Amino acid sequence: MLDVHSHKKFGENVVHNVSPKEWQEFANKHPQQLVSIGIHPWHIEQRSLEEELALLSSIIENELVFAIGETGLDKRCNVPLNLQMQSLNFHIQLSEKHQKPLILHCVRAYNELQLLKRKVSPSQRWIIHGFRGNPFLAKQLMKEGFYFSIGWSFNPETIKILPKELLYFETDESDATIEQVYEKVISIKGNINI
Ligand SMILES: [Zn+2]
Repeated sequence: MLDVHSHKKFGENVVHNVSPKEWQEFANKHPQQLVSIGIHPWHIEQRSLEEELALLSSIIENELVFAIGETGLDKRCNVPLNLQMQSLNFHIQLSEKHQKPLILHCVRAYNELQLLKRKVSPSQRWIIHGFRGNPFLAKQLMKEGFYFSIGWSFNPETIKILPKELLYFETDESDATIEQVYEKVISIKGNINI
């Protein structure tokens, strides 16, 4: 089973998350490892953003880059929202240009994210990672065509209503294995054959 977003795990079925700055050193150490690569909204620095985005575009074509991200919007962090938007828009363009899915981090900015998705109407999957929202939010996002990556913590009521076709699984920062995450999900949802 694919672990679509991890900061700690390695291996064939893992998409390890790295930033553009970390990439070169990481690739030397782990030459076969699939990655997602992007600038987390928490780590955006205004003075180096353009440089880091340029670095990101120079790496993205590498066949080990499975997805773009994580990127996204977080209204709880101190980085100004317009900078987060600028960075996110750049990631979106790369995702469309290189035909790779987008891994999204979203905190208290689901309205903005939904509006953006309508405006862009992307061909690539937009996967909200670590999704813990309630069923009401999940239904709204489903209507807009989002995908959901489920980690160790999630809302059980939401899991019951999300169709398996829209689900991914992840370990993120957790020490749990991807099998343990999956077991936890199917203990609520029943066997979903992924
Ligand atoms: Zn993460």
